[in-house]
Amino acid sequence: MKKPINAHSNILDLIGSTPLVQLNNIAAPLTGNFYAKLESFNPGHSSKDRIASFIIEEAERKGLLKPGSTIIETTSGNTGFSLAMVSIVKGYKCILAVSSKSSPDKIDMLRSMGAKVYVCPAHVSANDPRSYYEVAKQLHSETDNSIYINQYFNELNIEAHYRTTGPEIWEQTNGQITHLVACSGTGGTISGIARYLKEKNPKVRILGVDAHGSVLKKYHETGEFDHNEIYPYRIEGLGKNLIPSATDFNCIDRYIKVSDADSAHMTRKVACTEGIFGGYTTGAVVQAMYQLNTEEEFDENSNVIAIFPDHGSRYMSKVYSNEWMENQGFFDTKNVETPERIEY
Ligand code: PMP
Repeated sequence: MKKPINAHSNILDLIGSTPLVQLNNIAAPLTGNFYAKLESFNPGHSSKDRIASFIIEEAERKGLLKPGSTIIETTSGNTGFSLAMVSIVKGYKCILAVSSKSSPDKIDMLRSMGAKVYVCPAHVSANDPRSYYEVAKQLHSETDNSIYINQYFNELNIEAHYRTTGPEIWEQTNGQITHLVACSGTGGTISGIARYLKEKNPKVRILGVDAHGSVLKKYHETGEFDHNEIYPYRIEGLGKNLIPSATDFNCIDRYIKVSDADSAHMTRKVACTEGIFGGYTTGAVVQAMYQLNTEEEFDENSNVIAIFPDHGSRYMSKVYSNEWMENQGFFDTKNVETPERIEY
C-alpha cells in the first residue's frame, strides 16, 4: 500500500502552533530566561491569522455566513491581510475600508489577495460619513450576508487567543512561564493569553506594552480617559486613542510605554543579533523587556515569554529603511553622524 501524501488540506491549516525560540544574544544583558513566540510563522505572517480564522469560523457555526458572503473590516494592517487570505480559501468576498494614510504597497498587497479596498480620507473625524469607520458600517448595512469584524470591539478577538495562543504557551513552557510581555493594540492577544494563563497560574505576571501617545496605560492605572495622553506616534499596531472593549484590563498587571525611536532601533538590533526579522512591534516588545529589567521586574528564575507579532517584510520602507529612520530623526537619538556608522 502506498503511503498517503503528507500535505495540509489548505493554507489555513498552518495557522497557529507557532514556535517558541530562546533569545540568546539580545537578552544576554537581562536577568532571567527570555523566549520569543514567533507569530510571523503564521501563513499570513502575523498573529492576526488567528483572529481572522476564528471569528469567521464562529460566524459560520452561527449560520451567519454562506458561500459568497462578504467579510468587512476597517484595517490596512495585518488583520486586513489575514481576512483576505481566509476569505479566498473559504470563498467569501472581502471588503476593507482603509485610511488614505495607508501606504500604496499595503493597498496593493490587499488587492493582490483579492480584497476590495475603499480608500477613505484620513483627516476626517471618526463619525464623519467619509471616515473608514462609517464607510465600513454603511457597507455592512447595505450588503446582504455580510459580517463586520470590528476587531477593537469584538469579544471573539480575545476568545481566539484564549483558545489557541494561551494554551500553546502553557504547553510550550511546561507551565513554567512566569511573565508574559505583549503589545496591546486591540488588546485581543494580551487579554486572551492572560485569561488562559491566569486560570492556570494566577501568579503569572502579564505585562502590556503601550506607546507614548496612547491612552491605554493611563486608563489601566486610573480608569480615566485622558485626552492629554493622545498625540501622533509612528509605531503601528500598538496603543490606541480609544478604549477597546477587546482589552480585558483586569487581567493585565501593568503597562509600560515605549518610544518610537527606541523601538525602531531595537527592531533592527533584534534582526542583526538574533537573525529574527520582525516587525516594528517586535522591537517595541524587546524595548519593553529592557525597561522592565531596569525596573527589576525579573529575577534569575524568571521565564519570560515575549510575543513577536509579525514579520519584518512589511516594514521595508519604514524601520528597515535608513532614509525613513533618518527622516524621523531616529539616528539623532543615537548621536551618530551617518546611519552606516551604527553598530548594534
Ligand atoms: N503588533 C502589530 C504589528 C499589530 O498589527 C498588532 C495588532 N493591532 C499588535 C501588535 C497588537 O495586537 P492586538 O491587537 O491583539 O493587541
